Amino acid sequence: MRQRKRGDISRVPGLFSMNINGMRELFNSGNSVEETIHSTFDKIERSKLNAFITLSKEIALEEARILDKNGAKGMLGGIPIGIKDSISTKGIQTTCGSKILEGYVPPYDAHVIERLKLEGAIIIGKTNMDEFAMGTSTETSYFGPTRNPWDLKRVPGGSSGGSAAAVAGGEAPIALGSDTGGSVRCPASFCGVVGLKPTYGLVSRYGLIAYANSLEQIGPFARNVKDVALLLDVIAGYDSKDSTSINEKCEYLKALRYDVSDVKIGVPKEYFGEGIDEDVEKAVWKGIKTLEDMGASYTEISLKHTKYSLAAYYIIAMSEASSNLARFDGLRYGLRLEKDKDWHNTFSEIKAQGFGEEVKRRILLGTYALSAGYYGKYYLKALKVRTLIKRDFESALKDTSVLITPTMPFPAFKIGEKIGDPLALYLADVNTVPINLAGVPSISVPCGFSGKLPIGMQIIGRHFDEATVLRTAYAFEQGGGCDT
Ligand code: GLN
Repeated sequence: MRQRKRGDISRVPGLFSMNINGMRELFNSGNSVEETIHSTFDKIERSKLNAFITLSKEIALEEARILDKNGAKGMLGGIPIGIKDSISTKGIQTTCGSKILEGYVPPYDAHVIERLKLEGAIIIGKTNMDEFAMGTSTETSYFGPTRNPWDLKRVPGGSSGGSAAAVAGGEAPIALGSDTGGSVRCPASFCGVVGLKPTYGLVSRYGLIAYANSLEQIGPFARNVKDVALLLDVIAGYDSKDSTSINEKCEYLKALRYDVSDVKIGVPKEYFGEGIDEDVEKAVWKGIKTLEDMGASYTEISLKHTKYSLAAYYIIAMSEASSNLARFDGLRYGLRLEKDKDWHNTFSEIKAQGFGEEVKRRILLGTYALSAGYYGKYYLKALKVRTLIKRDFESALKDTSVLITPTMPFPAFKIGEKIGDPLALYLADVNTVPINLAGVPSISVPCGFSGKLPIGMQIIGRHFDEATVLRTAYAFEQGGGCDT
Protein backbone atom coordinates (compact mmCIF):
# COMPACT_ATOMS: atom_id res chain seq x y z
CA MET A 1 0.00 0.00 0.00
CA ARG A 2 1.24 3.52 -0.77
CA GLN A 3 2.41 5.74 2.08
CA ARG A 4 -0.51 7.74 3.46
CA LYS A 5 0.00 11.46 3.94
CA ARG A 6 -1.52 13.67 6.64
CA GLY A 7 -4.48 15.71 5.47
CA ASP A 8 -5.01 13.38 2.56
CA ILE A 9 -8.30 11.56 3.14
CA SER A 10 -8.58 9.80 -0.20
CA ARG A 11 -6.97 9.97 -3.61
CA VAL A 12 -10.03 8.36 -5.27
CA PRO A 13 -12.33 11.09 -6.60
CA GLY A 14 -15.94 10.68 -5.45
CA LEU A 15 -15.14 7.81 -3.06
CA PHE A 16 -17.53 9.09 -0.41
CA SER A 17 -20.53 9.27 -2.70
CA MET A 18 -19.89 5.97 -4.46
CA ASN A 19 -22.47 3.21 -4.65
CA ILE A 20 -21.79 -0.53 -4.47
CA ASN A 21 -21.14 -0.87 -8.21
CA GLY A 22 -18.69 2.01 -8.22
CA MET A 23 -16.73 0.47 -5.37
CA ARG A 24 -16.70 -2.93 -7.01
CA GLU A 25 -15.24 -1.40 -10.17
CA LEU A 26 -12.67 0.35 -8.02
CA PHE A 27 -11.50 -2.94 -6.55
CA ASN A 28 -11.69 -4.76 -9.90
CA SER A 29 -9.44 -2.16 -11.44
CA GLY A 30 -6.75 -2.87 -8.85
CA ASN A 31 -7.47 -0.33 -6.08
CA SER A 32 -6.78 -1.65 -2.62
CA VAL A 33 -9.61 -2.45 -0.22
CA GLU A 34 -7.33 -1.61 2.71
CA GLU A 35 -6.73 1.89 1.40
CA THR A 36 -10.45 2.44 0.86
CA ILE A 37 -11.21 1.33 4.41
CA HIS A 38 -8.42 3.58 5.74
CA SER A 39 -9.88 6.56 3.87
CA THR A 40 -13.32 5.75 5.28
CA PHE A 41 -12.01 5.79 8.85
CA ASP A 42 -10.12 9.06 8.18
CA LYS A 43 -13.38 10.60 7.07
CA ILE A 44 -15.34 9.29 10.08
CA GLU A 45 -12.69 10.36 12.58
CA ARG A 46 -12.88 13.96 11.33
CA SER A 47 -16.66 14.04 11.20
CA LYS A 48 -18.99 16.17 13.33
CA LEU A 49 -21.97 13.87 12.80
CA ASN A 50 -21.44 11.46 15.74
CA ALA A 51 -22.93 8.74 13.54
CA PHE A 52 -20.92 5.93 15.16
CA ILE A 53 -20.78 4.71 18.76
CA THR A 54 -17.99 2.18 18.15
CA LEU A 55 -15.50 1.86 15.28
CA SER A 56 -14.13 -1.60 14.52
CA LYS A 57 -10.98 -0.35 12.86
CA GLU A 58 -8.53 -3.16 13.62
CA ILE A 59 -10.93 -5.95 12.60
CA ALA A 60 -12.01 -4.07 9.44
CA LEU A 61 -8.45 -3.38 8.29
CA GLU A 62 -7.45 -6.99 8.91
CA GLU A 63 -10.38 -8.21 6.78
CA ALA A 64 -9.48 -5.69 4.08
CA ARG A 65 -5.91 -7.03 3.94
CA ILE A 66 -7.24 -10.58 3.56
CA LEU A 67 -9.54 -9.49 0.71
CA ASP A 68 -6.66 -7.66 -1.00
CA LYS A 69 -4.66 -10.87 -0.87
CA ASN A 70 -7.38 -13.31 -1.91
CA GLY A 71 -9.60 -11.10 -4.09
CA ALA A 72 -12.71 -9.17 -3.00
CA LYS A 73 -15.27 -11.87 -3.78
CA GLY A 74 -18.98 -12.07 -2.88
CA MET A 75 -21.91 -9.75 -3.55
CA LEU A 76 -20.44 -7.19 -1.13
CA GLY A 77 -16.72 -8.00 -1.41
CA GLY A 78 -14.80 -5.18 0.33
CA ILE A 79 -17.81 -2.86 0.70
CA PRO A 80 -17.83 -0.96 4.03
CA ILE A 81 -21.06 -1.12 6.02
CA GLY A 82 -22.32 0.56 9.21
CA ILE A 83 -24.43 -1.56 11.56
CA LYS A 84 -27.03 -0.17 13.95
CA ASP A 85 -25.93 -0.78 17.51
CA SER A 86 -29.04 -2.86 18.24
CA ILE A 87 -27.64 -5.70 16.10
CA SER A 88 -25.23 -8.13 17.79
CA THR A 89 -21.72 -8.29 16.36
CA LYS A 90 -19.27 -10.89 17.66
CA GLY A 91 -16.22 -9.24 19.21
CA ILE A 92 -17.51 -5.67 18.67
CA GLN A 93 -19.14 -3.68 21.51
CA THR A 94 -22.95 -3.58 21.15
CA THR A 95 -24.69 -1.05 23.41
CA CYS A 96 -28.12 -0.43 21.85
CA GLY A 97 -27.43 3.25 22.66
CA SER A 98 -27.65 2.55 26.41
CA LYS A 99 -25.38 3.00 29.40
CA ILE A 100 -26.65 -0.33 30.73
CA LEU A 101 -24.89 -2.18 27.89
CA GLU A 102 -21.71 -0.08 27.78
CA GLY A 103 -18.79 -2.49 27.50
CA TYR A 104 -20.93 -5.46 26.40
CA VAL A 105 -19.23 -7.47 23.65
CA PRO A 106 -21.51 -10.17 22.19
CA PRO A 107 -20.06 -13.67 21.87
CA TYR A 108 -22.03 -14.30 18.66
CA ASP A 109 -23.15 -12.64 15.40
CA ALA A 110 -26.74 -11.83 14.49
CA HIS A 111 -27.98 -13.87 11.51
CA VAL A 112 -27.79 -10.82 9.20
CA ILE A 113 -24.17 -10.26 10.20
CA GLU A 114 -23.29 -13.84 9.32
CA ARG A 115 -24.84 -13.29 5.89
CA LEU A 116 -22.99 -10.01 5.33
CA LYS A 117 -19.69 -11.65 6.25
CA LEU A 118 -20.34 -14.55 3.85
CA GLU A 119 -20.69 -11.98 1.05
CA GLY A 120 -17.46 -10.19 1.95
CA ALA A 121 -18.89 -6.97 3.49
CA ILE A 122 -16.60 -5.10 5.90
CA ILE A 123 -18.20 -3.92 9.15
CA ILE A 124 -16.67 -0.56 9.94
CA GLY A 125 -18.57 0.11 13.16
CA LYS A 126 -21.77 0.36 15.15
CA THR A 127 -24.03 3.30 14.46
CA ASN A 128 -25.68 5.62 16.93
CA MET A 129 -29.34 5.22 17.82
CA ASP A 130 -32.03 6.18 20.31
CA GLU A 131 -31.62 4.16 23.50
CA PHE A 132 -33.12 0.70 22.87
CA ALA A 133 -34.54 2.11 19.60
CA MET A 134 -37.09 4.17 21.53
CA GLY A 135 -37.30 7.48 19.73
CA THR A 136 -37.64 9.41 16.50
CA SER A 137 -34.60 11.68 16.65
CA THR A 138 -31.50 9.78 17.96
CA GLU A 139 -31.46 12.25 20.84
CA THR A 140 -32.14 9.64 23.56
CA SER A 141 -28.79 7.91 22.89
CA TYR A 142 -26.54 7.71 25.96
CA PHE A 143 -23.68 8.54 23.56
CA GLY A 144 -25.04 11.94 22.52
CA PRO A 145 -27.18 12.94 19.54
CA THR A 146 -26.25 12.33 15.91
CA ARG A 147 -26.40 15.36 13.62
CA ASN A 148 -28.16 15.62 10.28
CA PRO A 149 -25.58 16.00 7.44
CA TRP A 150 -27.90 18.47 5.64
CA ASP A 151 -27.99 20.81 8.66
CA LEU A 152 -25.85 20.06 11.69
CA LYS A 153 -28.34 21.79 14.02
CA ARG A 154 -31.05 19.30 13.10
CA VAL A 155 -31.80 15.70 14.05
CA PRO A 156 -31.18 12.88 11.54
CA GLY A 157 -34.45 11.18 12.55
CA GLY A 158 -34.53 7.99 14.55
CA SER A 159 -34.10 5.62 15.96
CA SER A 160 -31.54 4.45 13.33
CA GLY A 161 -30.23 8.03 12.93
CA GLY A 162 -26.56 7.04 12.95
CA SER A 163 -27.00 4.63 10.03
CA ALA A 164 -28.90 7.15 7.89
CA ALA A 165 -26.49 10.01 8.71
CA ALA A 166 -23.48 7.80 7.92
CA VAL A 167 -24.90 6.94 4.49
CA ALA A 168 -25.98 10.53 3.72
CA GLY A 169 -22.75 12.01 5.08
CA GLY A 170 -20.40 9.85 2.99
CA GLU A 171 -19.19 7.72 5.90
CA ALA A 172 -20.57 4.40 4.58
CA PRO A 173 -22.20 3.54 1.24
CA ILE A 174 -24.65 1.18 2.95
CA ALA A 175 -25.92 0.48 6.47
CA LEU A 176 -28.38 -1.62 8.43
CA GLY A 177 -31.05 -0.31 10.78
CA SER A 178 -34.05 -1.74 12.58
CA ASP A 179 -37.63 -0.54 12.25
CA THR A 180 -40.24 -1.13 14.96
CA GLY A 181 -42.47 1.84 14.15
CA GLY A 182 -40.54 3.77 11.52
CA SER A 183 -36.92 3.70 12.65
CA VAL A 184 -35.49 2.95 9.20
CA ARG A 185 -37.92 5.04 7.15
CA CYS A 186 -37.94 8.16 9.36
CA PRO A 187 -34.16 8.73 9.30
CA ALA A 188 -34.03 7.78 5.61
CA SER A 189 -36.58 10.52 4.97
CA PHE A 190 -34.84 13.16 7.14
CA CYS A 191 -31.39 12.39 5.66
CA GLY A 192 -32.40 12.05 1.99
CA VAL A 193 -31.45 8.37 1.53
CA VAL A 194 -33.36 5.18 0.71
CA GLY A 195 -34.50 2.92 3.59
CA LEU A 196 -36.66 -0.21 3.57
CA LYS A 197 -38.67 -1.97 6.27
CA PRO A 198 -39.21 -5.51 5.01
CA THR A 199 -42.35 -7.61 5.58
CA TYR A 200 -42.47 -9.02 9.11
CA GLY A 201 -40.75 -12.42 8.94
CA LEU A 202 -38.66 -11.85 5.78
CA VAL A 203 -35.41 -11.02 7.62
CA SER A 204 -34.28 -12.98 10.67
CA ARG A 205 -34.32 -11.09 13.97
CA TYR A 206 -31.87 -13.51 15.58
CA GLY A 207 -29.28 -11.31 17.32
CA LEU A 208 -31.37 -8.13 17.14
CA ILE A 209 -31.77 -6.74 20.67
CA ALA A 210 -35.53 -6.82 21.14
CA TYR A 211 -37.60 -3.70 21.73
CA ALA A 212 -41.05 -4.89 20.50
CA ASN A 213 -40.61 -8.25 18.76
CA SER A 214 -44.01 -8.50 17.11
CA LEU A 215 -43.41 -5.24 15.20
CA GLU A 216 -39.75 -5.04 14.25
CA GLN A 217 -37.59 -5.94 11.28
CA ILE A 218 -34.00 -5.25 10.33
CA GLY A 219 -33.81 -3.13 7.16
CA PRO A 220 -31.22 -1.76 4.68
CA PHE A 221 -30.14 1.85 3.98
CA ALA A 222 -28.34 3.03 0.82
CA ARG A 223 -27.99 6.01 -1.48
CA ASN A 224 -30.06 4.38 -4.21
CA VAL A 225 -32.78 1.76 -4.63
CA LYS A 226 -30.51 -0.73 -6.41
CA ASP A 227 -28.17 -0.97 -3.42
CA VAL A 228 -31.11 -1.42 -1.05
CA ALA A 229 -32.37 -4.29 -3.24
CA LEU A 230 -28.93 -5.88 -3.30
CA LEU A 231 -28.57 -5.61 0.47
CA LEU A 232 -32.02 -7.16 0.90
CA ASP A 233 -30.93 -10.03 -1.38
CA VAL A 234 -28.09 -10.64 1.08
CA ILE A 235 -29.96 -10.40 4.41
CA ALA A 236 -33.42 -11.86 3.62
CA GLY A 237 -34.28 -15.54 3.94
CA TYR A 238 -35.28 -18.29 6.32
CA ASP A 239 -33.41 -18.78 9.57
CA SER A 240 -34.23 -21.68 11.90
CA LYS A 241 -33.12 -19.57 14.90
CA ASP A 242 -36.00 -17.10 14.45
CA SER A 243 -39.37 -18.83 14.78
CA THR A 244 -41.12 -15.97 12.95
CA SER A 245 -38.81 -16.21 9.96
CA ILE A 246 -40.35 -17.51 6.73
CA ASN A 247 -39.02 -18.59 3.38
CA GLU A 248 -40.70 -16.13 1.00
CA LYS A 249 -37.56 -14.58 -0.44
CA CYS A 250 -37.21 -13.70 -4.13
CA GLU A 251 -34.46 -12.06 -6.18
CA TYR A 252 -34.94 -8.37 -5.49
CA LEU A 253 -32.18 -6.89 -7.61
CA LYS A 254 -33.42 -8.85 -10.63
CA ALA A 255 -36.98 -7.59 -10.02
CA LEU A 256 -35.99 -3.95 -10.70
CA ARG A 257 -37.34 -2.63 -14.01
CA TYR A 258 -37.89 0.83 -15.38
CA ASP A 259 -41.57 0.14 -15.84
CA VAL A 260 -44.63 0.97 -13.74
CA SER A 261 -47.28 0.62 -16.44
CA ASP A 262 -49.03 -2.16 -14.45
CA VAL A 263 -48.74 -0.43 -11.06
CA LYS A 264 -51.98 0.68 -9.40
CA ILE A 265 -51.34 3.24 -6.68
CA GLY A 266 -53.70 3.80 -3.75
CA VAL A 267 -53.46 7.18 -2.01
CA PRO A 268 -54.92 6.93 1.52
CA LYS A 269 -56.51 10.25 2.39
CA GLU A 270 -55.87 9.87 6.15
CA TYR A 271 -52.10 10.22 5.53
CA PHE A 272 -52.40 13.69 4.04
CA GLY A 273 -53.90 16.83 5.50
CA GLU A 274 -54.00 17.60 9.20
CA GLY A 275 -50.54 17.90 10.76
CA ILE A 276 -48.75 17.35 7.44
CA ASP A 277 -46.42 20.14 6.34
CA GLU A 278 -47.52 21.84 3.12
CA ASP A 279 -44.19 21.35 1.32
CA VAL A 280 -44.23 17.65 2.21
CA GLU A 281 -47.77 17.17 0.93
CA LYS A 282 -47.00 19.01 -2.33
CA ALA A 283 -43.78 17.05 -2.94
CA VAL A 284 -45.42 13.67 -2.41
CA TRP A 285 -48.34 14.54 -4.71
CA LYS A 286 -45.79 15.61 -7.30
CA GLY A 287 -44.14 12.21 -6.82
CA ILE A 288 -47.45 10.41 -7.41
CA LYS A 289 -48.09 12.48 -10.57
CA THR A 290 -44.58 11.65 -11.81
CA LEU A 291 -45.39 7.95 -11.50
CA GLU A 292 -48.71 8.57 -13.28
CA ASP A 293 -46.84 10.27 -16.15
CA MET A 294 -44.70 7.15 -16.35
CA GLY A 295 -47.78 4.94 -16.87
CA ALA A 296 -48.97 4.05 -13.36
CA SER A 297 -52.56 4.79 -12.33
CA TYR A 298 -53.79 6.08 -8.99
CA THR A 299 -56.99 6.25 -6.95
CA GLU A 300 -57.73 7.91 -3.64
CA ILE A 301 -58.70 5.43 -0.95
CA SER A 302 -59.42 5.34 2.78
CA LEU A 303 -57.78 3.30 5.58
CA LYS A 304 -60.46 3.98 8.11
CA HIS A 305 -58.85 2.76 11.33
CA THR A 306 -55.74 4.91 10.84
CA LYS A 307 -56.70 7.27 13.66
CA TYR A 308 -56.27 4.49 16.23
CA SER A 309 -52.78 3.48 15.02
CA LEU A 310 -50.64 5.63 17.31
CA ALA A 311 -52.54 4.61 20.45
CA ALA A 312 -52.48 0.91 19.55
CA TYR A 313 -48.81 1.04 18.53
CA TYR A 314 -47.58 2.72 21.69
CA ILE A 315 -49.55 0.37 23.97
CA ILE A 316 -48.28 -2.75 22.19
CA ALA A 317 -44.67 -1.49 21.80
CA MET A 318 -44.38 -0.38 25.43
CA SER A 319 -45.97 -3.59 26.74
CA GLU A 320 -43.53 -5.74 24.78
CA ALA A 321 -40.63 -3.47 25.81
CA SER A 322 -41.48 -3.76 29.50
CA SER A 323 -41.19 -7.52 29.24
CA ASN A 324 -38.11 -7.56 26.94
CA LEU A 325 -36.09 -5.15 29.02
CA ALA A 326 -36.50 -7.24 32.19
CA ARG A 327 -33.44 -9.22 31.07
CA PHE A 328 -31.14 -6.26 31.77
CA ASP A 329 -30.70 -7.06 35.43
CA GLY A 330 -27.08 -6.12 35.97
CA LEU A 331 -26.11 -9.75 36.47
CA ARG A 332 -25.68 -10.99 32.95
CA TYR A 333 -24.40 -8.17 30.76
CA GLY A 334 -23.03 -4.63 30.73
CA LEU A 335 -23.08 -2.22 33.64
CA ARG A 336 -21.94 -3.40 37.10
CA LEU A 337 -22.17 -1.66 40.46
CA GLU A 338 -18.88 -0.77 42.06
CA LYS A 339 -19.67 -2.71 45.22
CA ASP A 340 -21.89 -5.75 45.38
CA LYS A 341 -25.11 -5.23 47.29
CA ASP A 342 -27.90 -7.66 48.04
CA TRP A 343 -29.80 -8.90 45.00
CA HIS A 344 -32.78 -6.62 45.40
CA ASN A 345 -30.74 -3.41 45.65
CA THR A 346 -28.35 -4.39 42.88
CA PHE A 347 -31.27 -5.12 40.59
CA SER A 348 -33.02 -1.79 41.14
CA GLU A 349 -29.90 0.39 41.27
CA ILE A 350 -28.54 -0.99 38.02
CA LYS A 351 -31.79 -0.13 36.26
CA ALA A 352 -32.01 3.30 37.90
CA GLN A 353 -28.47 4.17 36.77
CA GLY A 354 -28.35 2.27 33.50
CA PHE A 355 -31.60 3.25 31.74
CA GLY A 356 -32.40 6.74 30.45
CA GLU A 357 -35.60 8.65 31.08
CA GLU A 358 -37.49 7.60 27.93
CA VAL A 359 -36.72 3.91 28.49
CA LYS A 360 -37.90 4.12 32.11
CA ARG A 361 -41.09 5.89 31.02
CA ARG A 362 -41.88 3.09 28.57
CA ILE A 363 -41.14 0.29 31.02
CA LEU A 364 -43.50 1.91 33.53
CA LEU A 365 -46.30 2.54 31.03
CA GLY A 366 -45.91 -0.93 29.50
CA THR A 367 -45.98 -2.62 32.89
CA TYR A 368 -49.13 -0.67 33.72
CA ALA A 369 -50.85 -1.69 30.47
CA LEU A 370 -50.09 -5.35 31.18
CA SER A 371 -51.09 -5.34 34.84
CA ALA A 372 -54.08 -7.28 36.16
CA GLY A 373 -57.21 -5.16 35.81
CA TYR A 374 -55.85 -3.07 32.93
CA TYR A 375 -54.69 -5.82 30.57
CA GLY A 376 -58.09 -6.17 28.89
CA LYS A 377 -58.72 -2.45 28.78
CA TYR A 378 -55.42 -1.54 27.13
CA TYR A 379 -53.31 -4.40 25.78
CA LEU A 380 -56.07 -6.70 24.53
CA LYS A 381 -57.98 -3.78 23.05
CA ALA A 382 -54.85 -2.60 21.24
CA LEU A 383 -54.42 -6.10 19.77
CA LYS A 384 -57.99 -6.01 18.44
CA VAL A 385 -57.42 -2.60 16.87
CA ARG A 386 -54.23 -3.96 15.33
CA THR A 387 -56.25 -6.66 13.54
CA LEU A 388 -58.63 -4.03 12.15
CA ILE A 389 -55.71 -1.96 10.86
CA LYS A 390 -54.15 -5.02 9.25
CA ARG A 391 -57.46 -5.78 7.52
CA ASP A 392 -57.66 -2.18 6.23
CA PHE A 393 -54.32 -2.71 4.48
CA GLU A 394 -55.20 -6.16 3.14
CA SER A 395 -58.43 -4.96 1.63
CA ALA A 396 -56.91 -1.77 0.16
CA LEU A 397 -54.08 -3.77 -1.38
CA LYS A 398 -56.51 -6.18 -3.09
CA ASP A 399 -57.36 -3.55 -5.71
CA THR A 400 -54.06 -1.68 -5.68
CA SER A 401 -50.45 -2.80 -5.96
CA VAL A 402 -48.88 -0.17 -3.69
CA LEU A 403 -49.99 2.67 -1.41
CA ILE A 404 -48.15 6.00 -1.41
CA THR A 405 -47.94 8.51 1.48
CA PRO A 406 -45.49 11.01 2.96
CA THR A 407 -43.00 9.10 5.16
CA MET A 408 -42.85 11.81 7.83
CA PRO A 409 -45.31 14.68 8.39
CA PHE A 410 -42.50 17.25 8.26
CA PRO A 411 -38.78 17.56 7.42
CA ALA A 412 -36.02 17.21 10.06
CA PHE A 413 -36.59 19.37 13.17
CA LYS A 414 -33.99 21.07 15.34
CA ILE A 415 -32.00 19.20 18.00
CA GLY A 416 -33.70 19.95 21.34
CA GLU A 417 -36.93 21.18 19.72
CA LYS A 418 -39.18 18.25 20.66
CA ILE A 419 -37.20 16.18 23.16
CA GLY A 420 -38.93 17.77 26.16
CA ASP A 421 -42.36 16.80 24.84
CA PRO A 422 -42.63 13.01 24.40
CA LEU A 423 -46.15 13.19 22.95
CA ALA A 424 -45.03 15.56 20.18
CA LEU A 425 -42.33 13.03 19.27
CA TYR A 426 -44.79 10.11 19.30
CA LEU A 427 -47.08 12.07 16.95
CA ALA A 428 -44.27 12.30 14.39
CA ASP A 429 -44.69 8.52 13.83
CA VAL A 430 -48.26 8.88 12.58
CA ASN A 431 -47.54 7.68 9.01
CA THR A 432 -45.03 4.96 9.83
CA VAL A 433 -46.44 2.94 12.76
CA PRO A 434 -49.56 1.57 10.97
CA ILE A 435 -47.25 -0.25 8.55
CA ASN A 436 -45.56 -2.15 11.42
CA LEU A 437 -48.94 -2.99 12.98
CA ALA A 438 -49.99 -4.49 9.62
CA GLY A 439 -46.61 -6.17 9.02
CA VAL A 440 -46.44 -5.05 5.37
CA PRO A 441 -43.25 -3.85 3.59
CA SER A 442 -42.54 -0.17 3.03
CA ILE A 443 -39.75 1.95 1.61
CA SER A 444 -38.86 5.64 1.97
CA VAL A 445 -37.36 7.26 -1.14
CA PRO A 446 -36.10 10.85 -1.47
CA CYS A 447 -38.79 13.08 -2.99
CA GLY A 448 -37.68 16.69 -3.32
CA PHE A 449 -36.85 19.28 -0.67
CA SER A 450 -38.37 21.79 1.69
CA GLY A 451 -35.79 24.56 1.56
CA LYS A 452 -32.53 22.66 2.03
CA LEU A 453 -34.08 19.71 3.87
CA PRO A 454 -34.93 16.43 2.12
CA ILE A 455 -38.46 14.98 2.00
CA GLY A 456 -39.27 11.25 1.89
CA MET A 457 -42.05 9.46 0.00
CA GLN A 458 -43.32 6.18 1.48
CA ILE A 459 -44.27 3.29 -0.84
CA ILE A 460 -46.13 0.46 0.93
CA GLY A 461 -46.79 -2.97 -0.57
CA ARG A 462 -48.53 -6.31 -0.02
CA HIS A 463 -47.06 -8.84 2.42
CA PHE A 464 -43.86 -10.26 0.87
CA ASP A 465 -44.21 -8.15 -2.28
CA GLU A 466 -40.98 -6.20 -1.77
CA ALA A 467 -40.35 -6.76 -5.49
CA THR A 468 -43.17 -4.35 -6.52
CA VAL A 469 -42.30 -1.83 -3.79
CA LEU A 470 -38.65 -1.78 -4.91
CA ARG A 471 -39.53 -1.67 -8.60
CA THR A 472 -41.86 1.32 -8.11
CA ALA A 473 -39.21 3.12 -6.06
CA TYR A 474 -36.54 2.31 -8.66
CA ALA A 475 -38.60 3.59 -11.59
CA PHE A 476 -39.41 6.76 -9.61
CA GLU A 477 -35.74 7.35 -8.82
CA GLN A 478 -34.55 6.59 -12.37
CA GLY A 479 -37.27 8.82 -13.79
CA GLY A 480 -35.71 11.74 -11.91
CA GLY A 481 -37.80 11.49 -8.72
CA CYS A 482 -39.48 14.69 -7.71
CA ASP A 483 -37.09 16.85 -9.69
CA THR A 484 -38.68 16.17 -13.08
N1 GLN B 1 -40.44 6.24 17.12
C1 GLN B 1 -40.99 4.94 17.36
C2 GLN B 1 -40.83 4.56 18.82
O1 GLN B 1 -40.21 5.31 19.52
C3 GLN B 1 -40.37 3.91 16.46
C4 GLN B 1 -39.04 3.45 16.89
C5 GLN B 1 -38.53 2.30 16.09
O2 GLN B 1 -38.98 2.00 14.99
N2 GLN B 1 -37.59 1.58 16.69
O3 GLN B 1 -41.30 3.56 19.24
